[in-house]
Amino acid sequence: MEIEEIRNYCLNCPTKPCEVKGCPIHNKIPEFIHEENEEKAFYILSETTVLPAICSRVCQVSKQCKGVCVRGIRGESVEINKMEMHLADNALKNNYKFKKKKNPILKEQKKVCIIGGGPSGLTAAAFLAMDNAKVTIIDKNEKLGGLLEYGIPDFRLDRSIIEKTIQKILELGVDFKLNTEVGRDISIEEILKEYDAVYISAGANEPIYTLSGENVLSGNKLLEELNKEKIEKGTEKSFIEKFKGKKIGVSGGGNVAMDVSRTLARMGAEVSIIYRRGLDEMPAEKEEIEMAKKENVEFLFQNNILKFDSENKEAELIKTNLVKKEGDTRLSPVNIEGSNYKKHLDYLVLATGAQPNDSFIKKLSVEQTERGYIKINENYQTSKDKIFAGGDIAETRKTVVNAAYDGREAAQNILQYLLK
Ligand code: SF4
Repeated sequence: MEIEEIRNYCLNCPTKPCEVKGCPIHNKIPEFIHEENEEKAFYILSETTVLPAICSRVCQVSKQCKGVCVRGIRGESVEINKMEMHLADNALKNNYKFKKKKNPILKEQKKVCIIGGGPSGLTAAAFLAMDNAKVTIIDKNEKLGGLLEYGIPDFRLDRSIIEKTIQKILELGVDFKLNTEVGRDISIEEILKEYDAVYISAGANEPIYTLSGENVLSGNKLLEELNKEKIEKGTEKSFIEKFKGKKIGVSGGGNVAMDVSRTLARMGAEVSIIYRRGLDEMPAEKEEIEMAKKENVEFLFQNNILKFDSENKEAELIKTNLVKKEGDTRLSPVNIEGSNYKKHLDYLVLATGAQPNDSFIKKLSVEQTERGYIKINENYQTSKDKIFAGGDIAETRKTVVNAAYDGREAAQNILQYLLK
């Protein structure tokens, strides 16, 4: 559908389910769709998000805005993300800038330090700067972007889009320090001395190894190291040499499993996704599953991996039945006794989750949850005065848009704190 057709196709529903129920950051969807002046439409969008060019490309729209669109009940949903992408790309092309507020919350400028320049930190930085905070982002990497730059493959999110988006945020007067690790290059005490408030948004990308061995890899780490090599050396040659022609099993059913499978398949590996449940239960976006199939990724549904022998390059798998368990919203996999079988695999990649960096959190001396994340209250405050946290490190659902939501909401809470 062309842009004008999308505008006419949207029913402008008074109850706005797409915005209220479908969009985790409550973008004003019908309002920006029906605004014919595209510059004005972009500014409607930027009231709630500073990452529209990114979210429109990576959001799980079939489970979010498009999934609840009224048009989708009897036919195709409105292409909300296509409209958002059009407006965002148009704004980048025409250099529309994010605007500082004429009447900001902070009358007197206060200093805020953001630790971690991923989607949550970047969003918080922008919304704080719009309200007259002097923001500095500290990031351990060579580039800002966090998960966007180091976690998402470039075939899914073009690096020029990330860079242009970050540039627009920095133009609000946001400062940054790269290659700087808190606890190594600067202590939290030094930061607390210099700044009026701190927002921790350092993500949670540490691998969880449910199986171990030389050829057992973490999906998150593999993508991170690959993207680092591309940034530092401008090539992925060593990865292609390692994986080309190899048989690789990827355990998991989320978007990381799809990203890593497609990345490896593009390098010439024979990839099989091993997933305990069925297609309908897969958390990955449908389009991503389809793309993976097109790229010759094999799907082994209702298969569980029991063991992996790195030396003999052999995995032991078992088939599963799906059963309804009381209190569970999803069907649960149960191993079928005696259905074990062996499969030759050169590598096993685990894409079944990640966790925060415990030693980093310990250096901040903030309270942790039982699962090791930073504990925050409803105002994003940690147990330590001046320190706020959000995004994956505070156990938000691991998507870009949820991290962005935390960044925006935490910014509002930090502004209120700074007024006191
Ligand atoms: Fe338009 Fe669909 Fe939202 Fe209704 S639910 S306002 S049709 S995008």
